[in-house]
Amino acid sequence: MSVMTRGIIAQPYSLAMHSDYSRRQFYSHAQVLLAEHDSARKHWENESNNVQALMDEVARLKVEIAGLCTGYEAYEQINAGLKAEVEALRKSAPSKEVVWCSCGDGHAANSYGAGFMDANDGVCANCDAAMGQGEQS
Ligand SMILES: [Zn+2]
Repeated sequence: MSVMTRGIIAQPYSLAMHSDYSRRQFYSHAQVLLAEHDSARKHWENESNNVQALMDEVARLKVEIAGLCTGYEAYEQINAGLKAEVEALRKSAPSKEVVWCSCGDGHAANSYGAGFMDANDGVCANCDAAMGQGEQS
């Protein structure tokens, strides 16, 4: 509300209704105030709707975050389980030494493949099978 409008609306009734000009002026400013009021109300309603939309979005995001936290906790549990499994497998894993065949196949030193090579002059089972096929033809 402008200072001018405030002054006109706040003037005593007898002064506001004193002449046709003052009545028209009073009415005109009252109309302006009514329009400002309606506009402000519409603006407030829009802002109120925006606030509600934001509150809805906050609630939706809270649910999403809770879901992600639960998923992450599940992931962490699975990850911990897999780490324990890997550690257990490492302890029971075959020797890190590898016995190599000339064909490029490698077998852990304490494996069946390495034992096969030891018993067959350093030749792996695949090479032995291939040589066996060669002899047959
Ligand atoms: Zn081989």
